Amino acid sequence: EAITVQELANRMAEKGADLVKALFNMGMMVTVNQTIDQDTAELLVEEFGHNITRVSESDVDIDTSEDQDPEETLKARPPVVTIMGHVDHGKTSLLDALRGTDVTKGEAGGITQHIGAYQIQTKDKHKITFLDTPGHEAFTEMRARGANVTDIVVLVVAADDGIMPQTIEAINHTKAAGVPMIVAINKIDKPEANPDNIRNRLLEHEVIVEKMSGDVQDVEVSAKAGTGLDELIEKILLQAELLELKARPDRDAEATVIEAQLDKGRGPVATVLVTRGTLKRGDTFVVGTESGRVRALIDDKGKQVKEAGPSTPVEVLGLGGVPGAGDQMTVVENEQRAREVAAYRQEKATEKRTALAPTSFDTMFNNLASNVIEFPLLVKADVQGSVEAITTALHNLSNDDIKVRVLHAGVGAITESDVTLAAASNAPIIGFNVRPNAKARDLVKRDGVEMKYYDVIYHLTEEIAKEMAGELGPER
Ligand code: GDP
Repeated sequence: EAITVQELANRMAEKGADLVKALFNMGMMVTVNQTIDQDTAELLVEEFGHNITRVSESDVDIDTSEDQDPEETLKARPPVVTIMGHVDHGKTSLLDALRGTDVTKGEAGGITQHIGAYQIQTKDKHKITFLDTPGHEAFTEMRARGANVTDIVVLVVAADDGIMPQTIEAINHTKAAGVPMIVAINKIDKPEANPDNIRNRLLEHEVIVEKMSGDVQDVEVSAKAGTGLDELIEKILLQAELLELKARPDRDAEATVIEAQLDKGRGPVATVLVTRGTLKRGDTFVVGTESGRVRALIDDKGKQVKEAGPSTPVEVLGLGGVPGAGDQMTVVENEQRAREVAAYRQEKATEKRTALAPTSFDTMFNNLASNVIEFPLLVKADVQGSVEAITTALHNLSNDDIKVRVLHAGVGAITESDVTLAAASNAPIIGFNVRPNAKARDLVKRDGVEMKYYDVIYHLTEEIAKEMAGELGPER
């Protein structure tokens, strides 16, 4: 257990410089940002005449992910929806069209602000929140950072184009996240639109829509003509009802950062989505490794608001620095506490960067759903024939005890999207005659994903079979 001089000073309510001086007198040359061990810290505390109480990590950091609000305090909250699909299939158009259905959009002073998410109110007073950054990259990147804000995915497929590579990626990323999906078959205004063909082709990817007697809701829409929007909204609300989404509104807020940037005039600005509690002007908070105090809250119509409840997106002003997308914001009792937690996290983050453990074959079994061990992987290869041969060969390695689960398989270089999915799912990536592109390589370094390269299928299956047998242990 180590602590920085500054953090110890904060906790003792003494000046950092005074501690440095005291340490100097004890024969130690350190700065306020350096860490000292527990014994030295205790000596210092005695020196300053304070009582010693050893604190555990949970006293210093805040991790509220485990603590649950009592059932009776929970209230229904709006669903949070992400739109995914292939490029040009109409994600942006659909987001705009849905935004246009908001019954409150005409209110005085309301000008559309693109803050990363928006909320609509339906005719019968239901609310739905949409994340404004469509696509599975943002979705999976957030998930890789432990932020599962999306409740429902709307998969957009253009009826005149069909199932395309990014459609398949979106399906796989959604499935890996275990988030329910609604299929919006778009551009049905086009004469060449063939929605039934889409429904058929989806079967090949194990997406069985209602019209094919499956349980995935589907709806025909035209973002351009505005048809089917009410039906889509109805289906989202129905899905939300099934999910029984709830959160406690009357407590200190927790929120997730959707996007953040340094604004020239306003300083660091973050759009957050409140996950529970109510965020209020004047609240003191920690977000990632930054602390701050809510100076202003601005909603998606550019209006200043006093507070924001669960599932509400708001822009927050008053941050100490720019946090990252996916960072958790937690309201704390006072500024001292906020600074302390932020300092502690900064130190932890530095430690983590230097000792980043790769996702290994040993650790990826932590997530055991049943007695059958799942063996998740991603496969990228140079040609479609190899992708198919490898996927089949891998599936053939499955038995009653252990099952290969190919999260995503595709042709081409290993991309950022592959790496984020692998990181989020704790799975290795298998490259057959392909390598990662530059951006993916950077991400691999950051996220520590395991990569395996092969050029002979036999070597690949042999090695994976060995890994799988090793996982099961000698007793099975
Ligand atoms: P994104 O890349 O998925 O965000 O797709 P966009 O929303 O940018 O749409 C791509 C193109 O398809 C644009 O030219 C849109 O005008 C057009 N488009 C989108 N939705 C529809 C639709 O329902 N019908 C028709 N005819 N065109 C559409």
